[in-house]
Amino acid sequence: MTDYDFQTIETRWQHRWAAEGAFEITEDPGRRKFYCLEMLPYPSGDIHVGHVRNYCITDVISRCKRMRGFNVMHPIGWDALGLPAENAAIKRGVHPEKWTRQNIAGMKRQLQRLGFSYPWSREIATCDPEYYRWNQWFFLRMLERGIAYRAKAPVNWCPSCLTVLANEQAEGGICWRCKHPVEQRDMEQWFLRITAYQDQLLEDMDELRAWPERVLVQQKNWVGKSLGAEMDFPVEGFPPIRVFTTRIDTTCGATFMVLAPEHPMVDALLAGRPDSAERKEEIARLRAQDRRARLEGRVEKEGVFTGRFATNPFTGEKMPVWAGNFVLMGYGTGAIMSVPAHDQRDFEFARKYGIEVRVVIQPDGPRLDGATMEAAYDGPGRVVNSGAFDGLASEEAIPRMAAHAEAKGFGKATVTYRLKDWLISRQRYWGTPIPVVYCDKDGVQPVPDAQLPVVLPPDAPFTGEGGNPLEKVPEFVNATCPRCGGKARRETDTMDTFVDSSWYFYRYLSPRKDDGPFDTAAVRYWFPIDLYVGGIEHAILHLVYARFWTKVMRDLGLVALDEPVTRLFPQGMVHKEGEVMSKSKGNTIAPDDVIARYGADTLRLYILFAAPPELAMEWSETGIEGPHRFLLRVWRLVDRHAVALAKEPRGPLREELPPPARELRRKVHQTIDKVTRDIEERIQLNTAVAALMELVNEIYRLEADVSTGPGRHALREALETVVLLLNPFTPHVCEEMWARLGHVGGLVRASWPALDAEAAREDSVELAVQVNGKVRGRVVVPREAPEDEVRARALAEPRVAEHVQGKEMVRFVVVPGRLVSVVVK
Ligand SMILES: [Zn+2]
Ligand SMILES: [Zn+2]
Repeated sequence: MTDYDFQTIETRWQHRWAAEGAFEITEDPGRRKFYCLEMLPYPSGDIHVGHVRNYCITDVISRCKRMRGFNVMHPIGWDALGLPAENAAIKRGVHPEKWTRQNIAGMKRQLQRLGFSYPWSREIATCDPEYYRWNQWFFLRMLERGIAYRAKAPVNWCPSCLTVLANEQAEGGICWRCKHPVEQRDMEQWFLRITAYQDQLLEDMDELRAWPERVLVQQKNWVGKSLGAEMDFPVEGFPPIRVFTTRIDTTCGATFMVLAPEHPMVDALLAGRPDSAERKEEIARLRAQDRRARLEGRVEKEGVFTGRFATNPFTGEKMPVWAGNFVLMGYGTGAIMSVPAHDQRDFEFARKYGIEVRVVIQPDGPRLDGATMEAAYDGPGRVVNSGAFDGLASEEAIPRMAAHAEAKGFGKATVTYRLKDWLISRQRYWGTPIPVVYCDKDGVQPVPDAQLPVVLPPDAPFTGEGGNPLEKVPEFVNATCPRCGGKARRETDTMDTFVDSSWYFYRYLSPRKDDGPFDTAAVRYWFPIDLYVGGIEHAILHLVYARFWTKVMRDLGLVALDEPVTRLFPQGMVHKEGEVMSKSKGNTIAPDDVIARYGADTLRLYILFAAPPELAMEWSETGIEGPHRFLLRVWRLVDRHAVALAKEPRGPLREELPPPARELRRKVHQTIDKVTRDIEERIQLNTAVAALMELVNEIYRLEADVSTGPGRHALREALETVVLLLNPFTPHVCEEMWARLGHVGGLVRASWPALDAEAAREDSVELAVQVNGKVRGRVVVPREAPEDEVRARALAEPRVAEHVQGKEMVRFVVVPGRLVSVVVK
């Protein structure tokens, strides 16, 4: 009996794979390809169990696909730019690059210790100038086409630190460093015109049939296409207030208007009012509130009456104009008509300030009364209190009222989108420098391609104060204008790191290429990505940007694809004691500790067995024992027979075998069938493991009966099948067992076991017995039983007999392998 010494086994095979370059690949037009991608990690310092879950899923599928004869691309890299590295620099005085490289080295060692089958020669880090050079190159191509542009946009600004803050650094409207209130400031920023692709992003979802519906719904909502109407509400002595609404049918119920506190008309409306100074102060307070909290309704709805009135173009009535914190500039027109009876935000606001609530849509059922209703009604119904439109169904009223507005010249039907252009400017050091310079004479000038990459200067002061560290590096800022040769100032904004992750999966194909971002022939071979596994939190942002980037590259003539990813599979999270595991909650599990106790194979198997891959898994210290015991059971079984079997000649499996051997073969081939489908089609890796556990139980049960004589060939087949099917899950121990069973060359080059459908067939079948269309019983009969035998057995079933007795049998039909149908009168 040999011990299961997982430490030695795992180290041995990891070294062997590395020495052989076991997972290195090249394009091979003679073989089917499979591109299996996982979301590249941010090098925060530690691989956590959530990463491990993501990468275990892709590793199982990659290893299975290789054994199935596919040429498999399963690469890894590092999403290495971004804020945490810069914060570490500020806090601990370590340069962001040094911090990042150290973390990458540590995490790489952790990934290797888990035995993932990566072609390490393709590893990329987005902080390498040889990578981000191509971000710059893409940016210049987009600039040439007007997809990249510069415009003013509001940013969070800390007047004490003199720096721009990301939303998450300005939570609650307070600077995360100095606790000073944050202001909104308009600054020149760089954008990518993703809105030019908004219709394509929606239409091409038809191609994403293998994406989960919930991801597509989130993307649809993010693009937020809505049909509605635009209307102008006249204000005496001022330009009209323009609003957008999807419910023009409720316009006669609009009893006030609300402008965003930032709306350019607010100051003008207040000018000359007796108490305008106080009102302005109040409005300034609303403006300073956290934008996201306002957008999400997490702040109490508040407003200030401007003292002015607008006219409802449908009713001619005067409506007070307010400035209110629940309306935001940048959404719609920054102004709304408020219909408190039929919009909950408006309702709450109207009740707070005592404004009339007027019902104009009556649903079926009890009559709504504006004076007493306790919440808005926003569903459909009959139009009331709306003059000529009374009596129409609300959905009929929408086009009719839009046509009326158009005829009278105060409005028109429109299509709007929630999607905004992508603001990519970050006033930060640790990102891709945006490759432009500013010349006093020539304005914005792109850096010529030949001067790329614009490299981050190694020395910059990381104090956390006074803005972007790049601004304080004169050698970086002082540049030459490529047009006139005069002095120019280099752009110090860097790019949002979502730029890096929008196209990294193309770079893996030719990671060292220096005359282009990727090799187009390689893209033709490997793309589209067959499977992309990652967290559901990336349903928008990353997964929308990645789709956008591919469409832009297609329009640049670089790829011939509309969509980069065929199948998307979001894996579930890892919980501990019911809570999501996270660094901030301090409930993370370090894989290193688990590996030291149980080995990488047990950790992998536990994570894959504990829950269906798309659902949350609950981490438990005791849960890992079961998978560990299972591996021991497999190990002991193989250990008992391996040495002898390795010396024996292989024998036939086709000739008449004794019944226990036939029974074992049936289970073996049924398991091959199930595990193959569970991995390849359904990605139900937990049920694949369960099937393997059943098979191992069956081998133990029949072991004594098949240990001698011709049945031994079936035992060998069963043990080898377990090792082959288990290999994607627990590759180290399987390699070891495979070698002990007398195989040379390793599982890396072994083929997936072939299904013998004949052997898998049950000797008997279960048939449902229907009487007049209702199932009344089930019978188990030999597969090849003649019809009269089936008939006798079916009619002998007590509940069937009960329904047939004393009646005339009109029909008796056997559908082979499925059911028996009896019709009686
Ligand atoms: Zn501050
Ligand atoms: Zn110039």
